Amino acid sequence: MANTDQKKLEEFELIHWIQQQAGSGEHLSLGIGDDCSIQPQKAERDLLTSVDLLIEDIHFKRQWTNMFDLGRKSAAVNISDIAAMGGTPLSLFLGIGRPRTISDSEIKEFLSGFLTEAKTYGVVLTGGDSCASPGPLMISVTVQGEAASGEAICRQGASYGDAIYVSGSLGDSALALHQLQQGQQPDPFLNQRFHTPAPQVPLGQELAKRHLATAMLDVSDGLLADLGHILDASEVGAELNLSEIPLSTPFKKALASDATLIDFALAGGEDYELVFTSPLKDLDQLINLPHVVTRIGSISQKSGLRIRHSNGDLYHCQRGGFDHFNRQR
Ligand code: ADP
Ligand code: MG
Repeated sequence: MANTDQKKLEEFELIHWIQQQAGSGEHLSLGIGDDCSIQPQKAERDLLTSVDLLIEDIHFKRQWTNMFDLGRKSAAVNISDIAAMGGTPLSLFLGIGRPRTISDSEIKEFLSGFLTEAKTYGVVLTGGDSCASPGPLMISVTVQGEAASGEAICRQGASYGDAIYVSGSLGDSALALHQLQQGQQPDPFLNQRFHTPAPQVPLGQELAKRHLATAMLDVSDGLLADLGHILDASEVGAELNLSEIPLSTPFKKALASDATLIDFALAGGEDYELVFTSPLKDLDQLINLPHVVTRIGSISQKSGLRIRHSNGDLYHCQRGGFDHFNRQR
């Protein structure tokens, strides 16, 4: 634990340090340092904006992560919201509520991780706010991005007969969290999926540019809950094939000794993979997509979400998705 009596950088010294590290971007005519940043607007482009809160002991525990990875994840989960629309992320805004127990070097570690992740996706830290917090560490991240006018992929738009796809593998992050909660040390791959998820920006952009998806979102609260949002918004139902849910090798290894772990892939959350629907039935064969996608089911006429074993029997998932006001994790 950091020494709370240690003299801290002044607010403006910290902001000056952030400003030096953040750099600037071609899309901005003014970045950090004034009352507002300025971004000249382009014709034929829609502005996408999203905000996420990360609160200590709800979204993360400081004993399970290091500040650099926490910074990376804070940027990544927000950038993922732009990926989920098929957009291009441009700017991040960072609000920090800092408890006295966080040292200057820890806050700088956090910012270094945040900026590293931002730079990986060509995104610029464009503004924010920095305050003391009497309680937990609080992080508020706003992301802005753009899409060609009218081409952002929304949750509504799925229709009967569309195939349902998911990128990458599911359940890794939730399994890592489960193992941490049990006092176990997760496999390094699962750990990495939990602590430093990778937003699927190139895949989202490709799907939007080629008009391949009718509806899309990123899996943050679990496949079933998130796909449920697409079904609600699109007013359709779905059938999923349990045996088609994509699983990583470390996940399958754990599943071999406990079959109930499959529910982490269905309802675990924090995968930050993309789920989308498409009238095309063979997108999983397209090798020139930037990230592997798997067809897991199809949109049905009948409302509701059914999961089937390969013999046609229904499977009932025992877990619900994550709901902040009725926590289950
Ligand atoms: P104001 O009084 O207008 O809120 P501040 O003194 O809080 O201004 O911030 C000065 C500048 O530093 C602003 O451009 C603001 O966006 C930026 N800034 C403050 N905190 C952060 C932060 N945590 N990350 C990025 N930029 C920040
Ligand atoms: Mg301020």
